Amino acid sequence: MIFDLQLVREVAQRLLGASRVSIVVHKSPDGDAIGSASAFKGMLSKLGISSTILVPDVMPDFLKWLPGAEGILVYDEQPDACGYQIRQSDIIVCLDFNDLSRIEKLGHFVGDAGAYKVMIDHHQEPAQFANAMFSVTKANSTAVLVYEFFKTAGWLQHLDKEIAAGLYCGIMTDTGSFKYSGVTSETHRIIAELLETGLDHTAIHRDIYDTNTENRIRLNGYAISEKLRVFPDYKAAYIFLTEQELERFNYQKGDTEGLVNQALSLAEVELAAFFSQKDKRIKMSFRSKGNLAVNRIAKEYFNGGGHINASGGIMEGSMEEALAKFETLLPIWVKEKV
Ligand code: 5GP
Ligand code: MN
Repeated sequence: MIFDLQLVREVAQRLLGASRVSIVVHKSPDGDAIGSASAFKGMLSKLGISSTILVPDVMPDFLKWLPGAEGILVYDEQPDACGYQIRQSDIIVCLDFNDLSRIEKLGHFVGDAGAYKVMIDHHQEPAQFANAMFSVTKANSTAVLVYEFFKTAGWLQHLDKEIAAGLYCGIMTDTGSFKYSGVTSETHRIIAELLETGLDHTAIHRDIYDTNTENRIRLNGYAISEKLRVFPDYKAAYIFLTEQELERFNYQKGDTEGLVNQALSLAEVELAAFFSQKDKRIKMSFRSKGNLAVNRIAKEYFNGGGHINASGGIMEGSMEEALAKFETLLPIWVKEKV
């Protein structure tokens, strides 16, 4: 058992007695964030507990099929309703993030709230804001930790194919469809149990990966053919897209997801980055192979963080400045293998 039984019991008791429960996930929510939240909400619902999922900003369309997604409160769209919900909650469950800065303005409400706060997360260096912390950095996804929470709480008897779909979505998306090194035999045992609920895993893969728009694949094609730069000496590559380029292809949230992995898929490349511009800020994604720690790159130089092989950051300034900074630092990173 990876979690402290007493702590899980305490949280379970508090949830069972709560009158208002909020489930919060990070900005730019991904499959693990929304999948975990969907599963958590589904399980609570089975136990007779109603809950509301909150996200800082709008979620990508390819996750909207998840059970419970239709009722999600988006802070950017309904700030007052979100503020009210958080203030009135007696429990706030924070999934797939470990620092209030990852939920932007919602972070102030959660930080100030008198609610009992629970964190279930797998990122490095958790901040201390939760009353109950379930932080396991070697876990391949938050979804496996949500599964472990259910198991420890004795709730798995309620697992059904809707709850299983959220967990499957979280594990699948955060493990690159079960290929990353964090996948273990235990991961596959969990997946087996999820499949036994009658879950339609083929439909999940299709709903997530085969829902491209024409604009999206054309944007990706353009990015790879025109906006990829490779640095063989440093085993590095990046792709960059300006705001105008994104607009030209009618960019929708999620459209550039996975582009950074295209750069990393080059045989000789060990460090890949993706830069995109919005207003006067440059958002970055970093990926690496092996032991090159891109979370340190993101944290030390680009106000971000993440995992050893997948991280992100942000910088105020122009695209040229961001690219120049990245290129200047390449020789250092490669020499030190950060
Ligand atoms: P992505 O490149 O998919 O946006 O992010 C990859 C991973 O990097 C995320 O799962 C998250 O852990 C981390 N990450 C991305 N952006 C940020 C950021 O601005 N701050 C921190 N601390 N982590 C980030
Ligand atoms: Mn995750």
